[in-house]
Amino acid sequence: MARYIGPVCRLCRRIGEKVFLKGERCLSPKCGVERRSSTPGPHKAGPRRRKVSERGLQLREKQHARFYYGMLEKQFRKFYSQAEEAPGITGDSLKVLLERRLDNVVCRIGFARSHAQARQLVRHGHLSLNGHRMDIPSYQVKEGDVIAWHENRKGPPFEQAAADVKDKGVPAWLSLNSETMKCSVSRLPAVEDLEDIVDGKAITAFYSR
Ligand code: SF4
Repeated sequence: MARYIGPVCRLCRRIGEKVFLKGERCLSPKCGVERRSSTPGPHKAGPRRRKVSERGLQLREKQHARFYYGMLEKQFRKFYSQAEEAPGITGDSLKVLLERRLDNVVCRIGFARSHAQARQLVRHGHLSLNGHRMDIPSYQVKEGDVIAWHENRKGPPFEQAAADVKDKGVPAWLSLNSETMKCSVSRLPAVEDLEDIVDGKAITAFYSR
């Protein structure tokens, strides 16, 4: 599956807000948005941006969600189409679908420090799902799924994760055993369980034009 391989801080600077794509660096003074407030591109640095139209704001929300979950436009649009077909409010369904991605769950439970790292762990076969190797980052977790570290892949990333999960709180719909490093999906997430990261309403408005 294709993925963006350019400089990620540039994505944050383009939409003018932090998307938290680089783990700990995002919280440090080295953050690209903290260091340079201008939009990327060939221009003189200076105060950023003119007034943004409503359409521009909707686009920014869509891009924010897409960058945050590390998806290209085609795949994101596919998720949106699935959300449209699901019963209920499209924006809410989209948020739930995005949250159920395997790489997102891996990040939420502390096995990885960023979505990019989570994606790499999955792609490289470090994790198993219900006892079998699973290397599809976009897999939609289901109730009862058990995510664990693959027995033969317990190198430095495992040691880092084992240290990170000790004090890690996990969302209410997931259950993590930090001793065995196994996480089970207790139930599917409801929209109330989700952090306020994605503006489903703005994204729906963007795609509805
Ligand atoms: Fe974005 Fe993180 Fe880079 Fe800051 S450090 S610009 S939040 S990816």
